[in-house]
Formats: sequence, structure tokens, C-alpha cells
Amino acid sequence: MEFKRYQLYPRVINDLKQRSTIGIIFYLSTACIVLFTDNYYIRYPEFSNPFIFSLSGICLLRLLHLYIAKWAKPKFENVNNYIFILSVAVTALIWGIGFAKFMIQDGELSATLLMTMCTIGLCAGGSVAFIPDLRLSISFSFFMLVPAIGVMGFYQMNMPMVFSISIFFIYLCLIAHRGNREYWDALENEYLLEEKSKVLETISRIDGLTDLYNRRYFDEAFSFEWSRSLRQQISISIIIFDIDGFKRINDEYGHLAGDHYLKATATTIKNIFKRETDIIARYGGDEFIAIIPNKPLENVCMMAEKVRLKIAALHLEYEGQILQTTISTGAAICVPDKNDKPQSLISNADKALYQSKTSGRNQVTGNS
Ligand code: GH3
Ligand code: MG
Repeated sequence: MEFKRYQLYPRVINDLKQRSTIGIIFYLSTACIVLFTDNYYIRYPEFSNPFIFSLSGICLLRLLHLYIAKWAKPKFENVNNYIFILSVAVTALIWGIGFAKFMIQDGELSATLLMTMCTIGLCAGGSVAFIPDLRLSISFSFFMLVPAIGVMGFYQMNMPMVFSISIFFIYLCLIAHRGNREYWDALENEYLLEEKSKVLETISRIDGLTDLYNRRYFDEAFSFEWSRSLRQQISISIIIFDIDGFKRINDEYGHLAGDHYLKATATTIKNIFKRETDIIARYGGDEFIAIIPNKPLENVCMMAEKVRLKIAALHLEYEGQILQTTISTGAAICVPDKNDKPQSLISNADKALYQSKTSGRNQVTGNS
């Protein structure tokens, strides 16, 4: 069982979208707190207006895009993913430019302090939220912090601050790296567990020797098909096949030869009852059983007759020896009534099989 990252990317993108949606509201509310506290926006309208408008614009677009992407056709999935990633980066960049402006302005100590605290909070929250995609998480912190580091470095202002923001950025990158590894490990385990349980479920339905359904699955399927036929008032048939003198094959040629013959019989039956709605199972030992919904008994018996003819004509070679025998069949049909017991249909097919056996074997008997 192999794990490929791209198989899970739709799930990861979905996680990212859910994790990031809540942040959209925080950008706007924190921007308002910073700009409206102490009437900062009145003193600096030339910065405040474009900042708040561009931030509101991108947040609005992101919300709109999340809504539209939900209804978009799967063929636009890639485009939608790129738009999502780009919009996150643009939001971070707008904020990062705003933060840089605060870092290089003189005075306005309380607004600058507020902006720094908000930026650190948003940046830490965002980089953790985007952990499923390492590049996005690091780019996010980069766009939020590096414009400030760049301009402060360029103007040689407040170098201790440049140093501490740089350390904070490196710290976020390391956290993102580790978190990303843990996220993918958890995802991989979950995926492998799901795949394994799917395989186990399939195995638990299949007979190991013949690859037909097993008795356990037959019981489940029969109960389901019976209820469906009862509901829709359509017919349901059961056919039981039993290889004639199978013990002899085992005794004369050995159990492995017997197994080989059982496999060939299973394939013969499967090749004749090909409809998706036909359910063929190994009932036990050398007995096979079929559930055939919505078909007249005449047709069901005609198909069983085809199986009989094929088996009678089968001369199966096994290690230089020829295995040959015949098969007896019993079929029964009914349109279920709510007072009927499902088991009565199987018992009628069994009676028909008994009749085939007692009347000389190698024949099909129908019981309506
Ligand atoms: P009849 O015509 O009355 O059906 O005679 P028969 O010899 O076929 O008798 P029966 O159906 O009772 O025999 C079934 C035999 O199938 C008995 C058992 O040893 C054998 N058998 C059951 N399961 C397997 C299996 O998985 N592999 C092999 N090789 N033999 C099996
Ligand atoms: Mg038999």
C-alpha cells in the first residue's frame, strides 16, 4: 500500500480553507482597532484609507471566492486552489506593508505598539493555520514580517527590532517545518488505516479459494435483496449448485486437485451469471449459491442448464490428469410476501437440489 501526497491534496486544501476562514475576520477587526484607537486614522488618512480599503477588499474577495469555489466544477479545482493561495499571500503582503509603515514612522508609540502586537499575534496564528502547506505557511510569515525587516534595515532604524523580528520569523519557520511534518505523518497514518480497513472489508467478504463471495457476505446480501424484492414486489430466485461425486475427485487425485476443480467450477458459474445484480457465492464445501433478482424461473433454470452443460463438458487438466464430473442444481423463486421467511426460499432451492441428486444427478430442477 503506497501513500502519495498528491492523492490527499484536495483534503489538505480543504483543511487550509477551513483553518484560514476565521482569520479573515481577525485581519479586519485588528486593523480597525489599530487605526481607530487614539484617532490614528484621522492623523494619517493617506495611509489608513488605502490600508483599510485594500484589506477589506481582499478579505471580501476571499470570502466571495470561498463561496464560489464551493459550487465550482471540479475542473476548476486547480485554478481555485491557486486563487486561494494567492489571495492568502496578498492579504499577508498588504498587512506586511502596513506593518512596515508603522515600524518606520516617528512618534505614535501606542499605535505602533498595538500594530506590533497584532502583527505578531496574526502572524503566529496564520503560520500555524497554514501548517498543512509548508510553503504557504513560510510565505505567509515572510510577507507579514519581511517588508518591515527590509525597510528598517534599509534605513538602518531600530536595529534591535530588526533583529528580534528576524528571530521571530526564523522561529515561525522552524515551528511550521515541524508542524508540517507532524500533520503529514498523521494524515499518512489516517490514510493507510482507511485503506487497510477497506482491504480488510473486501477480504472479509471473499472466499479465499474461489474468489467468489463467501457465506458471510451471502447472508448479508440475501437479507438485503429479500427486503428489496419485498418492497418492490419483484421476484427473487435462489440457485444452489452442488458438484456430483466431488469426494471422489479429492480421494482419487488429492485435495489440491479438488481445490483446482472448485476454482474452475466457480469461474464457470461466474462467467454465466455476469449481470451486476447477480450475486454468486461459495455456500460451503462443493456448494455454490446464486441470488438472481427479477428474472422468471424459466430463464434462471436456462442459465443453470448452461452451467450444467459447461461442467459436464469440462475436462480439467491437473498435473497430467484429467478431472471430470458433473453438477446438480436446484432453483427456487418467489415474490416475497411480508409473512414469508427468507429462509423458506433457500429451503425450496435445497429441496429442488435434493430432487436433482435423487433423480440421477447432473440435472437442473426448478421449484416455484
Ligand atoms: P454428491 O454427489 O452427493 O454431492 O457427492 P459428493 O461426493 O460431492 O459429496 P459432498 O457434496 O457431501 O462432498 C463434499 C466434499 O467436498 C467433502 C469435502 O471433503 C470436500 N471439500 C469441502 N471443502 C473443500 C475444499 O475447500 N477443498 C477440497 N479439495 N475439498 C473440499
Ligand atoms: Mg457434492
